[in-house]
Amino acid sequence: MSRSVLVTGGNRGIGLAIARSLVDAGDKVAITFRSGEPPQELVERGVLAVRCDITEPEQVEQAYKEIEEKHGKVEVLVANAGITRDQLLLRMSEEDFAAVLDTNLTGTFRMVKRASKGMLRARAGRIVLISSVVGLMGQAGQANYAASKAGLVGFARSLARELGSRGITCNVVAPGFVDTDMTRVLSDEQRAGIVAQVPLGRYARPDEIAAAVRFLASEEAAYITGAVIPVDGGLGMGH
Ligand code: NDP
Repeated sequence: MSRSVLVTGGNRGIGLAIARSLVDAGDKVAITFRSGEPPQELVERGVLAVRCDITEPEQVEQAYKEIEEKHGKVEVLVANAGITRDQLLLRMSEEDFAAVLDTNLTGTFRMVKRASKGMLRARAGRIVLISSVVGLMGQAGQANYAASKAGLVGFARSLARELGSRGITCNVVAPGFVDTDMTRVLSDEQRAGIVAQVPLGRYARPDEIAAAVRFLASEEAAYITGAVIPVDGGLGMGH
């Protein structure tokens, strides 16, 4: 059955891989993008691309109105959009801290809250949040990012309890290091240092994260909620 699916930040990186995978699964996929133009390959495959900055509540409302009009109420939400603003604590500005929290955590809250209206009425729904291994392990220079990603775990588990009786699942995928624009800014030395700590000895491809998301969004995952699924090559073992 073709479901109405929304992937935030579906224009590149992990979000793009998730959008592709859900189109392949036969879903009616909408993506939000913030800057530039949506990928032509998705547009050609019938994906609805809606411009939306998730830090702007009016844009969020507008995006949902358009998606609901064209695809119906969102039945599967993948909250993927996120940013980094890395800095050591003493050099981290209030603005860098707040911007990361506002996008990664509060932005996700905005998207999930709006989607939950339709899901509650339908007494069904799938919510998947993209956290990070860094939210569980911590990372020097990423206190803001790690706090936002750890926050998603508490957020998801609270929603799993709050929404479970209405047939809505809420789960978290915690990727390790994935080859995207976000990690391409790291130096070769930093990359080598990371890979040395990963039991599988390499970065993930975006489609490997998408595979876990697609499963959690599927009918087969109906009895999984409040879970944190690591897709990190073994980097975060023990968490
Ligand atoms: P990218 O930097 O490649 O893409 C980030 C996406 O988020 C873009 O689509 C971007 O839109 C969107 N975005 C950022 N801010 C906003 C905003 N305010 N409103 C709307 N959209 C926004 O990152 P990745 O694909 O690597 O990361 C995707 C998710 O996975 C993030 O949440 C990230 O934290 C997480 N993650 C990534 C890992 C990695 O190693 N790459 C590891 C663990 C987790 P635009 O194109 O307009 O900027």
